[in-house]
Amino acid sequence: MASITHLQVVDFGPAGPLRCQRCKAYVNPFMTFVNGGREVSCNFCGHNSPVAEEYFCRLGPDGRRQDVYERPELCCGSVEFAASPEYMVRCSFACGTTGQQNKSILHVYECLCPSRTDATHRQQHLAFTVSLLIAPTNECTECLRR
Ligand SMILES: [Zn+2]
Repeated sequence: MASITHLQVVDFGPAGPLRCQRCKAYVNPFMTFVNGGREVSCNFCGHNSPVAEEYFCRLGPDGRRQDVYERPELCCGSVEFAASPEYMVRCSFACGTTGQQNKSILHVYECLCPSRTDATHRQQHLAFTVSLLIAPTNECTECLRR
């Protein structure tokens, strides 16, 4: 069984990752691009959302984006999305800046897969709970230096 040793970081810049307009699902390998690549069909809710011009890519003869293997978010099961400014939190401690913040951690794990045993699910839940307990605060790096 292959292990995950390195998640690729995907940075969509200030606009943030492509997301479904209806259910807010993040772009993933199971979304399909339609209308020549100008819209993306959500694999969760079926809604078609427009694709920003800077993310547009023509579809190949197989109906898939021609850059699918150049974009980790379209070909990898797990990626790390760089947080866009709307998810940056103003320091809630002493300085009140919006400068460099400690990274927040978002854990998402699939628990509907029939191959998962109850024991595996319990271990994941425990690991998730522990990680929340040791997760950094949103105290900014300036406050941590004091
Ligand atoms: Zn959706």
